[in-house]
Amino acid sequence: MQGAIQNLPPTPNGKRIAMRVNPAAERALRQGHPWLFADAITRQSQQGQPGDLAVIFDRNRKFIAIGLYDPTSVIRVRILQHRQPILIDQQWFAQKLIDAIQIRAEIPENTNAFRLVHGENDHLPGMVIDRYAQSIVIKLYSLAWMPYLAMLIPILNNLLKPELVVLRLNRKMLLFPEYLYNYSDGSVLQGTSSNEAILFVENGITFEADIRNGQKTGFFLDQRDNRARVEKLSKDKRVLNIFSYTGGFSVYAARGGAQKVVSVDLSKPALAAAQRNYSYNRSDPAVAACHHEIHAGDAFEVLQDFVNNKLTFDMLILDPPSFAKRKSEIKKALSAYHRLTSLGLRVLSPGGILVQASCSSRVSKSAFFETIHQAAQQNSRHLREIERTGHPIDHPIKFSGGEYLKCLFAVA
Ligand code: SAH
Repeated sequence: MQGAIQNLPPTPNGKRIAMRVNPAAERALRQGHPWLFADAITRQSQQGQPGDLAVIFDRNRKFIAIGLYDPTSVIRVRILQHRQPILIDQQWFAQKLIDAIQIRAEIPENTNAFRLVHGENDHLPGMVIDRYAQSIVIKLYSLAWMPYLAMLIPILNNLLKPELVVLRLNRKMLLFPEYLYNYSDGSVLQGTSSNEAILFVENGITFEADIRNGQKTGFFLDQRDNRARVEKLSKDKRVLNIFSYTGGFSVYAARGGAQKVVSVDLSKPALAAAQRNYSYNRSDPAVAACHHEIHAGDAFEVLQDFVNNKLTFDMLILDPPSFAKRKSEIKKALSAYHRLTSLGLRVLSPGGILVQASCSSRVSKSAFFETIHQAAQQNSRHLREIERTGHPIDHPIKFSGGEYLKCLFAVA
């Protein structure tokens, strides 16, 4: 049953702002870049509100792109369409969602949680839509989307018939309550929610996600394929899962036949969820036979502690949060990856498997993989690579800067 749609913000007023931009931005937009920064705008016909349409022209008044205007963001315009002018209406949005669903047609039947819309990479910049079973989470990164919710929800209802639609908001948006129309992070847009976690299946494994309050939209859907790879490698292994969050990798390792799994995270609620996620899957004999422990604490300190106590494992998973949010933090991030590899290898038995990921788009693949190898060398360990992996199909990459996830699987 679909519950009532709550009072949605007023629909866009159709205002269009004409703009000219500097030559560098013109070039970038012609190459299909999805963002126009405020400092690249040289002329603007009028001021506007979040959600107005900005139309960008070149010096010969030729159309370059049309996008969503957001005066509260340094990304002043998020491009909806390059090159050809087009009417941005409900039909246009519906087509984008149909295209996004099509791209994800190969997601297996025993997986009912995945990213339906991956922002810029699905031509809907600044908006993520994740599906968890019969629930949909819309996560916005720009206030410009608020006036379009009333247009989007009927499309989602038409295509997916969700029971619950939840709104998640980027932190910066909360600084401008005047454009939030009384919505907040975690608001229910449609249906009713008891604030309980949602259950879903990923590759046949049952998990819960706290879609209204959890990190991101409640689960790290982007690691699905890497979790499946871990499952295949974990038979009879003692597995250490650092930065475990709600135990995604841990439950896969257990189903893969791991002897023992230790989940480590700073967040106690995440670890409690990891234990519940574990218990939902106890009907699987491999999960039931595997011993699962949780450990709350700082990753670096816990690793050091394990080194001091001479604990060893046969598989180590390191999946930290983004260490570099800005360009200026890249060096610091690489040194943190280096420290993690160094400490980690000291608890990994010879011939053990290292799985190390990075979700910092600022850190390049080459710098990341090189750093891991350097750290190994300095610890007199040689890494034999099994695989380097990137994005799953529901997190496509369509522009430079859109790539963030990389992961190394290696025998150490
Ligand atoms: N591997 C997880 C996702 C990890 S997200 C999965 O597949 O679902 C990063 C996690 O690191 C978060 O749960 C966060 O709570 C945790 N974290 C952040 N800083 C940490 C630290 N210093 N020590 C331990 N955990 C940390």
